Amino acid sequence: MPSAPGGPRLLLRRLREIMAEPVGAQDRLDKIVRQIAANMVAEVCSVYVMRGDGVLELFATEGLNREAVHLTVMRSGEGLVGLIASTAEPLALSDAQSHPSFSYKPETGEEIYHAFLGVPLLRAGNTLGVLVVQNRTYRVYTEEEVEALQTTAMVVSEMLAAGELQALAPVETGIALRRPVYQKGTALADGVGLGYVVLHEPRVVIKNLIAENVEAELQRLDKAIGEVRVSIDELIERGDVAHHGEHREVLETFRMFAHDQGWLRRMREAVASGLTAEAAVERVQSDNRARMLRQTDPYLRERLHDLDDLANRLLFRLVGRDMVAERSSLPDNAIIVARSMGPAALLDYDRSRLRGLVLEEGGPTSHIAIVARALGIPAVGEVSNATSLTEPGDAIIVDGAAGEVQIRPNADVEAAYAEKARLRAKRQEQYQKLRNVPSVTKDGVEITLQLNAGLLVDLPHLSETGAAGVGLFRTELQFMIAERMPSASDQQALYSAVFAEAGDRPVTFRTLDIGGDKILPYMQAVEEENPALGWRAIRIGLDRPGLLRAQVRALLKAAAGRPLKIMFPMVATCDEFERARTIVEREKSYLSHHGHALPSDLKLGVMLEVPSLLFQLKEICERADFISIGSNDLMQFLFAIDRENRRVADRFDPLSAPMLRALKLVAEQAQALGCQVTLCGEIGGRPLEAMTLLGLGFRSLSMSPASIGPVKAMLLALDVAELSAFLHDELENAGSGDTLRPKLAQFAESRGIPV
Ligand code: PEP
Ligand code: MG
Repeated sequence: MPSAPGGPRLLLRRLREIMAEPVGAQDRLDKIVRQIAANMVAEVCSVYVMRGDGVLELFATEGLNREAVHLTVMRSGEGLVGLIASTAEPLALSDAQSHPSFSYKPETGEEIYHAFLGVPLLRAGNTLGVLVVQNRTYRVYTEEEVEALQTTAMVVSEMLAAGELQALAPVETGIALRRPVYQKGTALADGVGLGYVVLHEPRVVIKNLIAENVEAELQRLDKAIGEVRVSIDELIERGDVAHHGEHREVLETFRMFAHDQGWLRRMREAVASGLTAEAAVERVQSDNRARMLRQTDPYLRERLHDLDDLANRLLFRLVGRDMVAERSSLPDNAIIVARSMGPAALLDYDRSRLRGLVLEEGGPTSHIAIVARALGIPAVGEVSNATSLTEPGDAIIVDGAAGEVQIRPNADVEAAYAEKARLRAKRQEQYQKLRNVPSVTKDGVEITLQLNAGLLVDLPHLSETGAAGVGLFRTELQFMIAERMPSASDQQALYSAVFAEAGDRPVTFRTLDIGGDKILPYMQAVEEENPALGWRAIRIGLDRPGLLRAQVRALLKAAAGRPLKIMFPMVATCDEFERARTIVEREKSYLSHHGHALPSDLKLGVMLEVPSLLFQLKEICERADFISIGSNDLMQFLFAIDRENRRVADRFDPLSAPMLRALKLVAEQAQALGCQVTLCGEIGGRPLEAMTLLGLGFRSLSMSPASIGPVKAMLLALDVAELSAFLHDELENAGSGDTLRPKLAQFAESRGIPV
């Protein structure tokens, strides 16, 4: 086999010169293919570019018929070139024509060539095209040649990514860099946002692709690898890995990869072929990402993600922080795209410029989802490869209700979503108008609508929605988004700020509801078989009274001179409530003894979320000042369905007879015993469910801010007495656990009640 004249390093140097020449895009590409052909001693060198419509088009060739340029096209998957594009893997054949995928394009005149070597043009894991060399003879391409062509491909990819070839593509399609992509994920926070991609972790910008001195580059690479290894070892040794959101397991995997000989060899080879150390890392990472995008096995994909993270660490070492794209210049209409993200990081962004959030990870109950909802930022999670599929500045649309993301949408799609956003805004405006309308049903029954909150950023919703107060303040959110345990004074400061924001409106604070799915990153996690049934909420509070005491004291101090309502989560027995009350009483005496002002009125309540309380209603009503039904958990325990497990979470309907009967029982008993009752689970915020609750006898509901408008619109059109009679009959006659949803929906529809 003839050896390449000058080898790959000389080729790269020549390419760099060509890149700098003041010539047009087509001329430059023609020169590049000529140079590659000469250097690789190939008779043919061609570049196929992926257009926006997914078709590969011959953009330049040395050796094939020149008339075929911009004429020969093939679909991804069609022919050898299409095969390379779809697999994103190189393909070397000594006799191309005997390969089953070979497809003959007569206009190219390629029938006389036998040997074929093609590599994908990759950028951030996406295939932008294919680079091919061909020889007349039945030649076998060596591994070094495959490597050299891949390195060369990287330079061509950069040229493509820089947009220089855009002008050569048909106007209608453009090149793949701009191809629209639709991704389905999980709805995290409602709303439609149109804007531009901002990568939460900006990519490293590699300015220098081609090595001046290969030896020096190898040394830089080795040094960086050594440093990364040491830093991982240190993280593992420090043991406070959870603090960084990285579990030990991930770090152990990092450590394993950092010593992976195959990975290291591939990067060293890329340097040996003439790339700088950072370009070599990027090249190998690009191959890895291409595999990641095609990997369906979640475990393997996760490992490839780990490798990607590791490569990023290496790039940061090599280029330093300065070369990381600046984050400070957040554009207007920014849509943040991230692999994963902590809630605190989201709060760091300028909210007035944020229009949406897209995450590769992050389920509906993740902390980031809670914060996105509180901030009113449309968010979609579990969007595969979101960070690889987007470039900073790309147009992007987030539909947080449907869980959809449109990347680089075409004009029609954009117009459709803009319309959707406009309609939504109009609806919001109508709800806004209801803000000061008294919350009274058509037949004159007064209903109290309150807000669920957990962060200070939730509080402005009080005046925006006209809610009567905060019916559930989830105090654990402060703990969940903090990097370390909030001190007693941190807690008191938050509660004081909440009171200040709430003004005259009452606030019901729930004591820490941690455990189960609510994990504090800085607290040692207790391994439990069934965390939802485990050591959580008031159980922790009573076993570790120091924590509960400190919180109660902070609440009492913050409420000095004002009315205060405290409730306890996950209470299963009257005794638990009594013990919690004793703690509060003791704190009260302590503060009073030490001359502190006390709340002007103190009410203590229980969350009814454990079914056992259904069978001690009389006793609990006699002891507690109020009951708040946590229907999310009550539903979970009543039907034995893990609310976090999407396979079962929606299996049973809260509008079925068993749940409705349980709710009715509480409403009636509490009323009969003169105990205030309210409901603060998600169902209170859904108009049809909320309507049903009023029919069952509830007169107070607490819900997320976005629900206040729709629920109020519903109740203004409702005749409660009529619904109560209807429900009474339906529940008497309901079959074996049937859902009443269709009948209730029919009830609403026939009476023009918006649900
Ligand atoms: C509930 O369980 O319904 C509830 C309001 O509490 P959380 O969702 O915080 O568990
Ligand atoms: Mg609960």
